Amino acid sequence: MTAALQIAVVGCGVAGQAAATLLADAGHAVTVFERFAEPRPIGAGLLLQPTGLAVLRALGLADQAMARGARVDGLEGRTHRGRAVLELAYADLHPKAHGLGILRSVLFELLHQRLHRSSARLLVGSEIVDVVRQGATASVMAANGETHVPFDLVVVADGAHSALRQRLMPAARAPLYPWGCVWTTVPDLAGIGTGRLLRQRVRGTTEMMGLLPVGDGQLTMYWSVPVDQLAPGRPIDLAAWRRTAAALWPEAARIVDHAAAADAFSRATYRHVALPRWHDGPVVFIGDAAHGTSPQLGQGANLGLLDAHALASAIGETGELTSALALFGRRRDGPVRFYRQASHLLTPFFQSHSGALGLLRDAFMGMSCHLPGMRGLMGSTLAGTRRGWLSSVALDDDGRYRLDG
Ligand SMILES: Cc1cc2nc3c(=O)[nH]c(=O)nc-3n(C[C@H](O)[C@H](O)[C@H](O)COP(=O)(O)OP(=O)(O)OC[C@H]3O[C@@H](n4cnc5c(N)ncnc54)[C@H](O)[C@@H]3O)c2cc1C
Repeated sequence: MTAALQIAVVGCGVAGQAAATLLADAGHAVTVFERFAEPRPIGAGLLLQPTGLAVLRALGLADQAMARGARVDGLEGRTHRGRAVLELAYADLHPKAHGLGILRSVLFELLHQRLHRSSARLLVGSEIVDVVRQGATASVMAANGETHVPFDLVVVADGAHSALRQRLMPAARAPLYPWGCVWTTVPDLAGIGTGRLLRQRVRGTTEMMGLLPVGDGQLTMYWSVPVDQLAPGRPIDLAAWRRTAAALWPEAARIVDHAAAADAFSRATYRHVALPRWHDGPVVFIGDAAHGTSPQLGQGANLGLLDAHALASAIGETGELTSALALFGRRRDGPVRFYRQASHLLTPFFQSHSGALGLLRDAFMGMSCHLPGMRGLMGSTLAGTRRGWLSSVALDDDGRYRLDG
């Protein structure tokens, strides 16, 4: 067990809050720095996998999350003609396995209340612009000119568009994906969520709509858009969108009408983030800051939660920080590399200008979901349990992910 450490966490998002809480619970003195005066989630809902749910369970939040979200049993993707391109069920891994659709605001609230119940200190309105190393420790500098005393460890969890990443690890790569999306939450006026599936409709690679049940009779809707159309302030042509979306998915026309009338879309761009290493001395990266991906596989928040748990566990298990950070990196390398590669490979089949990839997807992907070896690979990929291309973690007798697996 490492002696109590002074730890700074930059970013009060999913990964930062989970890491801060778990580290504070372990007896460390944790300070969380958040740039917003009032930390808040941006965007609509997301899909938690058995992996992310396991970390919520470790935080004592899984039951509340289950009560407020919507159980999801699998993923169904179809073309505008109804041809299956994705058909995956968690039950293929274990009869009791499932995912959870949940509003970001709900997940944030649960994590935030839990953070407040820990001994971690939260400093809001504190945008960190630099981290300065002094031997084995590091100080964090805020945009308001304040410098915060040396910390034994600085956990950078400032998200996919991290400015600290470029400053502290210039060799990191984080190109923007050429496509992003708009998303919103709407009432399920067409009973789409009753099947307990994340459902998608696609036409070629330029039209994609997804509907995810998130609890309380609501669905999170997302619609694929090239990034040049997502610039802040650029208006969305809602009338044109409404016609295109309703033609793509006629059964969802009432939901589309409602979303167009409400006009409450958030915009999202994503990055393909790769760091040369997890940490530089006492400064470690977690969550999207370390490995942002496209959301095609629904893994980002889950990976961030797993990072948080792995970091706290590694620090708890080893005698000193350098070994703990090395152990953390070894444990997270394989799964994170797999999900980064898999989402990068898969994304152009759903979001690109390549008609050929759309044709290949329509011809082979649905069929491959039913080939014995492929079904296991794709199901475990969805569930977040892959360790790499060759192995995955088996679920336990209750269909749950084991964090020590
Ligand atoms: C459209 C879309 C759909 C998605 N769907 C899913 C899904 O279904 N399942 C899933 O698991 N994931 C999904 N994701 C990914 C998921 O949202 C992210 O992986 C997750 O939110 C990353 O969490 P994080 O804590 O690393 O970063 P964030 O949640 O981005 O948090 C970063 C925090 O750091 C703060 N911050 C930034 N800079 C500074 C600074 N300099 N100083 C202080 N504070 C700072 C920010 O204000 C923020 O609070 C989706 C993403 C998108 C865009």
